[in-house]
Amino acid sequence: MSGECVKVSVRCRPLNSKEKADNRSTIVDVDSKTGTVTLTNPKGDEPPKTFTFDMAFDWNVTQREVYDVVARPIVMSVSNGFNGTIFAYGQTGTGKTHTMEGAPTPELQGIIPNCFDHIFEIVNSSPPNKQWMVRAAYLEIYNEEVRDLLSKDPKNKLELKENKDSGVYVKGLNAFVVKSVPELKNVLEVGRGNRSVGATLMNQDSSRSHSIFTVTIETIETTKAQPEGHIRVGKLNLVDLAGSERQSKTGATGDRLKEATKINLSLSALGNVISALVEGKGGHVPYRDSKLTRLLQDSLGGNTKTTMCANMGPADWNYDETLSTLRYANRAK
Ligand code: ADP
Ligand code: MG
Repeated sequence: MSGECVKVSVRCRPLNSKEKADNRSTIVDVDSKTGTVTLTNPKGDEPPKTFTFDMAFDWNVTQREVYDVVARPIVMSVSNGFNGTIFAYGQTGTGKTHTMEGAPTPELQGIIPNCFDHIFEIVNSSPPNKQWMVRAAYLEIYNEEVRDLLSKDPKNKLELKENKDSGVYVKGLNAFVVKSVPELKNVLEVGRGNRSVGATLMNQDSSRSHSIFTVTIETIETTKAQPEGHIRVGKLNLVDLAGSERQSKTGATGDRLKEATKINLSLSALGNVISALVEGKGGHVPYRDSKLTRLLQDSLGGNTKTTMCANMGPADWNYDETLSTLRYANRAK
């Protein structure tokens, strides 16, 4: 296992209208040429901290540029039968969902709809000796419980199972065969309507769950040498992680606090898995420590490709959270 298969990029959103109205200052400096981010403590009592990543995007980057760097190589590799995973990490309100889903216009659509377009470009331009089957599934992990967002009864908790042939899987998870971009978008829409949302002080409709949209791409290629056909299966996991903020800042108590603790458990388990993979050397990778990492076990490490896009805001009031995001992303490098 080499660190080459894990890439980390960071993206800083622009100041939002409230931050502008409040005259917030920008404490994040992004240098896209070198992939560095410099964070200045607004209290001014320590030197600025600099971090280097595979890629650093500032507030001027387009959704298309993010797609080309972060996702395009992974989709190519999935269409050739390898697994791949793209994560959006970050504090609530920093642009995870903007990065993954974006808005429904061609310029503003995010990684997920851009993947849909790209996948069907590949399918529709492929030679006649290659046949394709594309399937989509959509689940969320909420409080360490797995739910099928495409189920008639999305509140049902599903179990993780394991067998020798197929590895870890979710028992009873729906997967729909899709034949076009609009069909994939429809699956995304239906699932989105079934997500759990919780209101916290930071963002009224911030999602407290991890969502995983999985596209499975299967090809059968017939050649003179293999007239019976050669089958390849690749799986693409598109993951919008729950907010990484600490519970103290969100004013969470009771049930909400319990949720936050579990969210942080799977985020720290994910951090541990990724840093074990990056360190390589065949050491122990603690996949079993959370549902998220167990579920993605066959798509993290080995000959799979993984990219983490860590999102952050530029404003001074988020210094602690932004530092913690940069440190998390830095560990994953
Ligand atoms: P998260 O999913 O991390 O909670 P969102 O993606 O919902 O955050 O982003 C919060 C708000 O900021 C949304 O209104 C979103 O449209 C806006 N936003 C996020 N990133 C950007 C960006 N790079 N450029 C412009 N607006 C952004
Ligand atoms: Mg979101």
